[in-house]
Order: sequence, then structure tokens, then C-alpha cells
Amino acid sequence: IMNAEVLAVGTELLMGQIANTNAQYISKRLPDVGVGVYYHSVVGDNPKRLKESLTLALKRSDAVIMTGGLGPTQDDLTKETVSELLDKRLVLHEESLKKIENFFKGVHRTMTDNNVKQAYLPEGCIVMKNNNGTAPGCIIEKDGKTVIMLPGPPSEMRPMFEENVIPYFEAKSSYKLVSRFIRVFGIGESAMETEILDLIQGQANPTIAPYAKEGEVTLRVTAKCVRDEDAQQLLDPVIEEIKKRLGNTVYSTEDKNMHQAVGELLISRGISLALAESCTGGLIASRLTEIPGISRVFNRGIVCYSNQSKIENLGVNIKTLEKHGAVSRETAVEMAQGILKTSKTDLGLSVTGIAGPEGGTAEKPVGLVYVALAHSGGVECKEFRLWGSRERIRNVTVLNALDIIRR
Ligand code: ATP
Ligand code: MG
Repeated sequence: IMNAEVLAVGTELLMGQIANTNAQYISKRLPDVGVGVYYHSVVGDNPKRLKESLTLALKRSDAVIMTGGLGPTQDDLTKETVSELLDKRLVLHEESLKKIENFFKGVHRTMTDNNVKQAYLPEGCIVMKNNNGTAPGCIIEKDGKTVIMLPGPPSEMRPMFEENVIPYFEAKSSYKLVSRFIRVFGIGESAMETEILDLIQGQANPTIAPYAKEGEVTLRVTAKCVRDEDAQQLLDPVIEEIKKRLGNTVYSTEDKNMHQAVGELLISRGISLALAESCTGGLIASRLTEIPGISRVFNRGIVCYSNQSKIENLGVNIKTLEKHGAVSRETAVEMAQGILKTSKTDLGLSVTGIAGPEGGTAEKPVGLVYVALAHSGGVECKEFRLWGSRERIRNVTVLNALDIIRR
């Protein structure tokens, strides 16, 4: 299997001013064409360190994919430095020059001399057109290694990568890596691993890798194969076995988000929903309304942050609030019943909790959350004890609330 690495050039990346989303994008795509990614590195706009980084990268990888520093200005020196290191002359590429001239005509701007610099490319390279900017990219082959240079702006880099780099590697490799993602919620990472440890350890093809993020766990199942049909044959039985073991904690085998999975479930079954959100402040409504077609089932969402709103908009009893407080099982239940009654939907979901960082007590700590779901058959309420920042608590509350609808 071919291996590649990503070398991003740019001082802003080193300084943390921008995130290296190019490396992320490239790494996500390369396995699809059978290329393994073993290293990421970042280097500033400095010729000496750039040469050192590229020399090291060429020692250990078959291909090095570079992004950034192809612009017209003085600090953009990727092409010049790479050409020097690989001992290639920079020659004027007429077609690119015309394209750059046309680009400036198209946007009614005058072209400056330093833009001509962008039309100079290493001799013998494969030129990649840039339809969204001025800097062309290139692919250079030397001594069995490949160096690819792409511009930094993602809006330029991505289409060039798709149109040129993907086909380039596809033609070279005989293998593909095909991944499926199993999304799991309601079971911790270690508990899940215990359930499927023998599968993880016993599988060479496909491989199974779990990773956790903010309250949920994703399992990546990757098959190495020659044809897509082979991938399905390798993947399907393993995915079935995982589903069997993890039961209904699996909410998607198609890499859908929780809100997508739940939204589509509601739409397909024609189950209508209304929300009464306190500590999530409309987050659940916001996620659900990302889904096209949700209007068929999503009736309304009320952000009932104050006690006054809980009383006026949802009919929560003032005595309930006085006796049990806004963050309580009793209040959550009345909120859910209230929103169900006013909106006349199939489901009424309520959320109330303490997101922190202040406002917690020994009895009701930060992270205490109640989610209630009311329907014609009654009302159920779940208590959660979450941890972390305000942001995390709110996000995990959204997941838990949606998960209750799903089950
Ligand atoms: P330009 O012609 O715009 O100068 P360039 O090829 O010279 O393009 P850079 O100057 O290195 O690229 O970066 C230009 C911009 O592209 C950066 O300010 C940043 O917004 C974006 N960018 C660069 N590298 C990356 C990266 N690795 N990930 C995400 N964005 C990036
Ligand atoms: Mg630049």
C-alpha cells in the first residue's frame, strides 16, 4: 500500500491563527484511493526549515502532499524552495499565464508583475489548473517519489485535489480503503470496547477502531479491497455483528449525526414533536431544523428560560417551581405536558438543567439535567449527572434528549 504524508506550509498555521483543515481534508480522502497517511507536519514560511521538513518527509513516505505558499507574494516560497531541493528549473507555463491573465480580466482587476511568478512551474511536472484562484498546483515525480503542491486556501485546494490528486492516486494504487462509521450513544467507550474487544483484536480486514467525542462514540470499520463490491462483502457481516452486540445503542451505521438520525426517524414515521427548552436555549430546535423536510413533523420549540415563561407559556404550576425548583423532575414533567397540550403534537419534550459554571449546590450540582418526554400514553422523565464545561453540558444534553426520542 502506498503511503503519503501531508506537509502544510504557513506561519499562521504554526502560530495557531488558523487550523490545519487542509491536512484533515486530505487525510480523510486519501484512504478512499488506497493511500495510507502516516504523518502530518506543519512548517512556517522559511526556506531552510521547509527544505529540512521535505527532506525528512521524502525519506519516509512515497508521496508528500504540500499545501500553502503558492501565492504571488514574497513570503510564498514553496515552489521555489521545492524546485531548488529537487533540482528542477522553474519554467514559464504559457497556459497558466493565460489563465492568470484571464482571471484578472474576469474580476476587473489589473494583474501585477508578481502574479507572473505563479505561472512558473518546475520542469516536467503535471500542472493542476486552479479554477478558483490564480496559483496553479503541480505534481512532480522524482526518483520514485511524488511531491504535490497545492494552494493554501481550502476553496482552491479542495477542488484541485478532487480533480487531480484523487485520480492520480487512483491510477497508481491497486487497493482501496473503504470505511463505514457506526455511531453509538448511551454506552461509554470502555464498556463498548469490552463488548467487541475480540472483534477489534481478531480482525485484520476489515479493521475496527473506536474513537470517542463529546459523549458519543464512533466506530470506524475499514476494509482494504480492490473493488467496492468486495468492500461491502467484507464490511456487512462485521457491521451486523457489532449491531447485534451493541443493540440499540447503535443509532446510525451511515455516519449520521444524532439529530439527523432522530429527525429522519420522526419524518419517516410521521411523528410530530414540540420542544420546551430551558438550559439548551433552543439548541435542540436548531439542530433539528438543519434537516430538510423536518417541517412536516417539527411543530415548535419554546425557549422557556425564566420561571415566568415556564408558568405563562407552559402552564407549569407556580407551587411546583416553589417547592421543587426549576431544575427538578417535577418541573420537567410539567413542562413536557404543557408543551404537548398547547401544541397538540404526538410528542412533547422538555429539558431543564444547570449548565454551570455557576449556580450549582451540593444538592443540585452543575450538570444536573432533567429531560421529560410526554405523549398521549403518559410522561417519562430521566435524570442526568453530566460533567464538563457549560458548552459540553449543553451539547451532551442535546444528545441525551434526542436519544430519548429515538428509543
Ligand atoms: P494565496 O495565494 O492566498 O497567498 P497560498 O497558496 O500562498 O495562497 P497561503 O498564503 O499559505 O497559501 O495561505 C493562504 C490562506 O489559505 C491562509 O490565510 C488560510 O486562510 C488558508 N490556508 C492556508 N493553509 C491552510 C491549511 N493548511 N488549512 C486551512 N487553511 C489554510
Ligand atoms: Mg500566500
